[in-house]
Amino acid sequence: MPTAETTSPAVPQSLDSGPGEVDVVVIGAGHNGLVAGCYLAREGLQVLVVEADDKIGGMTSTNPTLAEAPQHRFNEGAIQLTGIFRLSQIAEELNLPAFGLCEVPVEPAHLQLAPDGSSLGIWKDRERTARELERFSSKDARAWREISDTLDSIMPPILTYMRSHPTRALSYELIKNLAGSARRPGKLAAVLHFMTASHAEILDELFETELPKGALAAMAAFQRMEADMTAAVALIYLGVIQRVSNAMPVGGTGELPSALARCLESHGGRIRTSARVEEIVVRGSRVSGVRLRGGELIGARQGVMTTCNAKHALLDLLPEGALPDHLLTRARDIPLTKTQATSLKINLALKGRLSMPIVSELRDDDLDPAAALVAWHTLAEQSQAWDAVCRGEWPDPVPVSCCISPTHVDPTMAPDGQDTFWLWSGVIPVHPKVAWEQVRDEIGERVLRDCARYYEGIDSLEIAREVLGGPDLEKRFNAPWGNVYHVDPIPSRFGPMKPALGLGGYRTPVDGLYLSGASTHPTGGVCALPGKLAAQTLLRDRVSRSSRLRARLIPSGARRSS
Ligand SMILES: Cc1cc2nc3c(=O)[nH]c(=O)nc-3n(C[C@H](O)[C@H](O)[C@H](O)COP(=O)(O)OP(=O)(O)OC[C@H]3O[C@@H](n4cnc5c(N)ncnc54)[C@H](O)[C@@H]3O)c2cc1C
Repeated sequence: MPTAETTSPAVPQSLDSGPGEVDVVVIGAGHNGLVAGCYLAREGLQVLVVEADDKIGGMTSTNPTLAEAPQHRFNEGAIQLTGIFRLSQIAEELNLPAFGLCEVPVEPAHLQLAPDGSSLGIWKDRERTARELERFSSKDARAWREISDTLDSIMPPILTYMRSHPTRALSYELIKNLAGSARRPGKLAAVLHFMTASHAEILDELFETELPKGALAAMAAFQRMEADMTAAVALIYLGVIQRVSNAMPVGGTGELPSALARCLESHGGRIRTSARVEEIVVRGSRVSGVRLRGGELIGARQGVMTTCNAKHALLDLLPEGALPDHLLTRARDIPLTKTQATSLKINLALKGRLSMPIVSELRDDDLDPAAALVAWHTLAEQSQAWDAVCRGEWPDPVPVSCCISPTHVDPTMAPDGQDTFWLWSGVIPVHPKVAWEQVRDEIGERVLRDCARYYEGIDSLEIAREVLGGPDLEKRFNAPWGNVYHVDPIPSRFGPMKPALGLGGYRTPVDGLYLSGASTHPTGGVCALPGKLAAQTLLRDRVSRSSRLRARLIPSGARRSS
């Protein structure tokens, strides 16, 4: 990787001078840490990104992970860049294509399968989805058009808010978009219903056939589907993908952090891997740097920004007494396991090509189903799985949130004529009654047998597999409980409440300490906005600090005459 210094300097540096001091230390070289680093470094700040792992990328890493298949490269975490990342314009602002990022838009966003092989594509173009739905139910096609119309009335202010600082969001654009939504008062009742209803209720009410219910359940389900206010997140997700399609970087998701690392280096920033922070150092009420494992101190003149899990930062890294008592209590309650779920990830290296003949044959287009994000469990199966997870039981079936053969989009990720297979489920218990280590092989076997109903070759072409549960993801990504969102994506943790009220605008009560990463506004996932917005907050504070300093140093009379 271009800028990574992969060994820690042997001699501990002083906090106050020399190469042991920079303007800003960013903790974590996931995509948010690197984005923050780029925005800070291009303003001339001396930035050092420190990463516990021996590689950059965090949950956006792409690597060969199976010894038996060294040329099969896997997206270890995320498979796609969200539409929100693409709407954010961050790739353009940082000129990432010049640093090697090449995105392939992916369509459809999701393909839901039925047992007979019939399928429903969820497309950016809502009319195309509605036309596919007509084949199953005219009522459902009408419902699709109505939801899309309702989402059109609320998405502009939602997206503007997501792109803004959570407590300083007021702008001409936001007011204009809010006024636009207010001009459609007829939609108010539907919007209120979307925002408050349960996921299961909305889907059962809107649709009479299984495919749209199953699709919207699998695409964005984050907690027990019968809980109130769970429909909103799924519908907002739909609103986003109907505006801009998701994308996959050529070469794998890891090409995003690679491009960011090159960008950071071009602005003079540096990255150190194998550099785990053990303490955020506080002097008086101000952050002065970090202490790495091994004792090395790195000073930070302007501040420290964390992009690791916020609970880890506030409770494990920050010294006792740094936070006022009420915020310490709130930090302890940041939800990491309140949904009762964590993730399952399966990687397969294959010695040939997968196909999905029963799905292809029933479609009237040339879509390659293996190149799409696919799922097939019904709403009832998914809802029952969430109930099982809440009881600490292993669901049967384990609902696949999505799976894909990435080499059907980008064949360069495996040897010629061979495939990789990527599967993720966000519906397995985080506190299981029977431990993960005891069920790993059985769950892996069961899930792949389920996949073999649709993917021809999955059971005969396998070279090697990797079945990872919450504890494995925790270890791999330094992510407590293997939580891929960092903080549970529940309705109480959005905007200024993310990760907790009083800790939600990137700034903290500890002078010079900033929270960023997936734990902060607007959302987890490959979104990059937490990194950008936190960097902008630090830069704004720097300007106000230097104006305050100027005001103190230069007497007001002298300022007037200059
Ligand atoms: C299996 C899986 C599938 C996913 N699929 C998708 C998807 O398709 N689309 C999508 O949008 N999102 C997906 N996600 C979620 C998404 O990848 C993450 O939410 C996002 O990448 C988080 O980015 P981040 O930079 O905020 O944090 P991270 O990527 O978690 O980076 C934080 C970094 O901090 C480092 N760190 C932690 N503690 C310390 C310490 N004490 N000292 C130094 N460094 C430390 C970690 O090692 C890590 O590299 C998926 C995640 C997983 C695991």
